[in-house]
Amino acid sequence: MLLSDKYPFLTNYFNQMFNTEPLRAPQSIIFWGSDFESQFILSREIARLLNCIGDKSDGCTCINCNWIRDNAHPAVQIISRVDNKPSDDDSKTVISIKQANEIKGSLMTSSDFYRVFIFCDRDDDGNICGLNQQNFQEETANALLKVIEEPSSRVMFIFLARYREDLLQTIVSRSQCFYVPSYERPSGDYSIIDGVFTDYYEFKRKDAFNAAEGLINLTKEHPPIDVLSGVQNYMAELLKSNPANPRFITDIETVERAKRQIVLNMNVQNVFENMCLDIIH
Ligand SMILES: [Zn+2]
Repeated sequence: MLLSDKYPFLTNYFNQMFNTEPLRAPQSIIFWGSDFESQFILSREIARLLNCIGDKSDGCTCINCNWIRDNAHPAVQIISRVDNKPSDDDSKTVISIKQANEIKGSLMTSSDFYRVFIFCDRDDDGNICGLNQQNFQEETANALLKVIEEPSSRVMFIFLARYREDLLQTIVSRSQCFYVPSYERPSGDYSIIDGVFTDYYEFKRKDAFNAAEGLINLTKEHPPIDVLSGVQNYMAELLKSNPANPRFITDIETVERAKRQIVLNMNVQNVFENMCLDIIH
């Protein structure tokens, strides 16, 4: 499946942004959500659109597009605790200050390319994972703030994370944040909320508390997170049949926020009511 089919809203958004003259691309972007692979592919697509010397199509085979798809482009770098370490850097658990300084140094020289740095983590099998305040610590982030804030031209920083809160506020406040919904849910099942929350997009504002109550009743028999996953699975189904409707992306994001609040032990009734007030309008 092409990325433009999978994330038409985000892909269109970046396509339009990159086709304006003069180019007004953000200097710093955060992708967040549970689907790190998709976040990474989106990042690589952005790098490709910024460096393509062909027709920018999904199948473009210009030298830059090919290099970037092979993860071999000199100007598009993955920065993690295991990728692109300076030779004298023996840190293994963090993105180090040495790495930050090396990036800063490399930006002192000019480049023919649009340079893109993709910050992420990897698990033991090498799969892309999200940043957090253990693997991307405050002193390293602070070392980068100046280059993030004061753009050399044609440079972009992209940060991948599970939650925005996993990144320091100083990075978040300097970045454009995009939630990337997961399409790879282990179970697309939403029978748990069937009859309670199905067709919620037709609910009226005055129904919001009733809808919340219906969902809260389900938490007597199921963990609140499972109820919320059911809601998200249902929304993901709606998104598949209405891929151009950004409402469902926003709604999935709202439920993701509710999940986060549940994980933080916030009051279930408050979380569900606030969520329904945000979604039903
Ligand atoms: Zn190309």
